[in-house]
Order: sequence, then C-alpha cells, then structure tokens
Amino acid sequence: LLRVDGLVKEFGARRGLHGRTERVRAVDDVSFTVRRGETLGLVGESGSGKSTIARCVVRLERPTAGRVDFRGQDLADIGKRELRRVRQDLQMVFQDPYASLDPRFTVQEIVAEPLRIHGRYRRGGAARVRELLDLVGLKPEHANRYPHEFSGGQRQRIGIARALALGPQLLVLDEPVSALDVSVQAQVINLLRDLQEEMGLSYLFIAHDLDVVRHICDRIAVMYQGNIVETGDREQIFDRPEHRYTQALLSAIP
Ligand code: ATP
Ligand code: MG
Repeated sequence: LLRVDGLVKEFGARRGLHGRTERVRAVDDVSFTVRRGETLGLVGESGSGKSTIARCVVRLERPTAGRVDFRGQDLADIGKRELRRVRQDLQMVFQDPYASLDPRFTVQEIVAEPLRIHGRYRRGGAARVRELLDLVGLKPEHANRYPHEFSGGQRQRIGIARALALGPQLLVLDEPVSALDVSVQAQVINLLRDLQEEMGLSYLFIAHDLDVVRHICDRIAVMYQGNIVETGDREQIFDRPEHRYTQALLSAIP
C-alpha cells in the first residue's frame, strides 16, 4: 500500500559561521513498506526523525530526495489537486491532542471539517459525524462541546474521528498515545485495533518506546539518528533483536 524508498529530508539552509550553509539531515535514506491491513511500528528516540517521516508521507513536508509511493503513485511531486484526492485515503493523527484540535470549533465542526473541505458534508454529513463519534466511543451530546471540555484520551478520540471522516485506507499515527496516561493509552490502542479490524485499515504507528507498539504492530522498524537500523516482525524484534540499539530499547521496558 505504502512504499517509502530512499527517503531523505534535510532542513535549514542557515548560514554557518563562515558563510557556508548548514543543513540538518533529519531523515537519511530511509526505506520501508506498509502492506494492506497491516500495522508497521516506527520506533525511535526523540529527534530520530519519526515525525519528519510522517510529515513526508502525508506530504505536509516535501522530501529532499526519495520516493513515497502510495498505491503505486509517487507523492513526492504531485500537484495540489491530486494531493487533495490522495488525502481522502491517507490521513494523519497527531501526537498532541491539546494542540492539534482548534479550540474555537465544536467537536461537530472539527470532525465535519474534512467532509466540508472535500464537498462531502451537504449530503448526509451530519449523520456521518454522529456515526464517527459513535465509532470512537463518544456520545452524540459531545458534538456541541469544545475541545477544552474533554480529557486527553477523549481529545485523541476526536482526532481519530476526524482522521476517519473520509474513510481512509492508511492512517499515519504520530505518537498518538504519548501524551496520555498509561491506562488511557491502552484504551486508545484498543480502540485503534478495533477500528482496524472493523474497517480493514492500515497503520503507520509511530512511538518512542517499544512497549507501546507491542500489542498493535505486525512489524516494527527501529530508528536511530535518521536511519532505520532494524526491521522485523514483532516476534523477531522482541525475542531476537539484532541491533544493539534495539536491544537497548528493549532493556528500557520495565
Ligand atoms: P520526537 O520523538 O521528539 O517527536 P522525532 O523522532 O519525531 O522526535 P523529528 O521531529 O522528526 O524527530 O526531528 C528530527 C530532527 O529534525 C531533529 O533534529 C529536529 O531538530 C529536526 N527538525 C525537525 N523539523 C525541523 C524543521 N522544521 N526545521 C529544522 N529542523 C527540523
Ligand atoms: Mg515526533
């Protein structure tokens, strides 16, 4: 479904001390695939380049080099109109449910926004929003409230409902539970698993520790300083890690 090949992303053409330009290579030649119906975990420490990959995949950021093939189409240099079409099938959920939901809008308006943007609200949009809220475990009466009236876990449910509005095939989840209490993390992960089963979704699931992805990922790619150092199925990564950084991540799990 998704094939990322040789992805490179550099930032900042800042002038250095001697007038030279300095560039930060946040992602350095990264390749991986996400198959249909599968969850790929992308795990690595802070600053290793995970969010940059996520933003390149959904084309919030343009890669410096490499390909991002979604259903066989390279997203690296498609136009705005084509990108709009792709966005119906490729959505992202952000790490911080406090920052990613606009406080000026009600839950109804937030979840309806993608439908409006794509001209799909007028016909049955209100019913679709109710259906989406139900799907993520929110009540109909929540629709008219504002984000600040909800807990972190509930806010992330709102973010998930919005991401699902257009019926996507692939969700890029950038640390969707990192801002939540451990008990709430499990609830949101269970929700994501149920949704996946129900809707046949594929996930690119980003996390900074292996414990979080243990119960949701089919395969795991471990990132270190802009590179993927090891990819394997879940058993392989947890039972027979090869790279010493993967081993270090594992030993950090209590
Ligand atoms: P975290 O776990 O903290 O979210 P991450 O793995 O998501 O970290 P990124 O946010 O992808 O890491 O950042 C990777 C590197 O790229 C960092 O060194 C960061 O400073 C740099 N970087 C990210 N975005 C930008 C930007 N817009 N401009 C300049 N540098 C950036
Ligand atoms: Mg990040």
